[in-house]
Amino acid sequence: MGTVPTLSYSSVRTYLECPLRWKYLYLERLPEAPRGYFSFGRTVHSVLEELLRPYLRPTARRTEGLTQRTLEHFGDYRAEPPEPIRPEELLELYERRWIPDGYESPEEERRYRELGRTLLLRYHQEVVRQPPTPVAIEAHLEAKWEGVPVHGYVDRIDLTPAGGLEVVDYKTSRGLTVQDALTSDQLALYQVLVEHNFPNPVEGLALIDLRGGIHLASPPRPTQALAALRVSVGEVSDGIRDEEYAPTPGRACARCEFRDRCPEFKEVPAADRERLAVLVDRFVDLRDSEQNLERELRSAALALHEVAERLGLHRIPGERGVAVRRRERAARSGAKAAEPAASMPRPIGRWYWEIEAAARASSPRRTDRRKATAVGPSEGSAS
Ligand code: SF4
Repeated sequence: MGTVPTLSYSSVRTYLECPLRWKYLYLERLPEAPRGYFSFGRTVHSVLEELLRPYLRPTARRTEGLTQRTLEHFGDYRAEPPEPIRPEELLELYERRWIPDGYESPEEERRYRELGRTLLLRYHQEVVRQPPTPVAIEAHLEAKWEGVPVHGYVDRIDLTPAGGLEVVDYKTSRGLTVQDALTSDQLALYQVLVEHNFPNPVEGLALIDLRGGIHLASPPRPTQALAALRVSVGEVSDGIRDEEYAPTPGRACARCEFRDRCPEFKEVPAADRERLAVLVDRFVDLRDSEQNLERELRSAALALHEVAERLGLHRIPGERGVAVRRRERAARSGAKAAEPAASMPRPIGRWYWEIEAAARASSPRRTDRRKATAVGPSEGSAS
């Protein structure tokens, strides 16, 4: 049984996309390949943290015993907004904080660098025009959410005019819409973390689209929406505890750096290739035969069913056995319920045909249930 670590939004998302990738990243701690867009995001976040730190204002926090600190604990605090750093200082800071890892070419790095200057200068203007009211920046918050430990680094938490909180996440990706803010599970998890750590109510969630220079606001998630996320977090927690790490190919494979060790992408050794190809082709043939047989069985069962309906019969003898018609309840113990063919006429109830060996034909109880074939499509039809 595995130990469940404190889960972050990205670890939950990684597990839901592919448990095996989660295992490589979070359990075996294999290094993630550096990517230019991650480096870019980290650089911009770090500069914004520095830009906004002077605006930080005190507020009460919940502490472990659920007591609260109050404003008196914070000493002197200037209510006037501070002097913002100058644009040239901001750009100097940006150059100093630049993370050069993971760019595919000097040209790509140059384009990102230029983009960063543009969006930071624009956001600087926005800050000067309307100074923010953060009570926390890059805050590491932890909580036990109905027994599951969760954590996250929240970019910013602002005080609203009514004394509530707005949870803010910066985004450097392109093409965001308000729908992203309304449906972001990351913001929803941050809401949970903020609610556990601050006494003020969460009044809003927001993505700041730095490329578009827009504030995409959303109301806080209602309890029902949080419950759906809690189910996902619980599933991930259960999966890790049960050590379920099946590879799950999908969209994540395209950017997965572990394909060389993933069983989904592992090549068959050359020495075994020919032998295994024969085995696979035989398996394909058998599957085809199985499906053909299944179709024929259904069609024979349907023909028997129609005759039985017309003549009022339940048992029809043949040379090598007796076909016996049973209601679903009688067949359930040994028979596999097959999906009805779409072309099948609506029968009365759900019937199965089973075979009794000719030698035992006089004893209906000895029916060979393994040979049951379903003919009824709809459960609960009138009998
Ligand atoms: S390659 Fe795909 S299936 Fe394999 S670990 Fe990576 S994401 Fe999962």
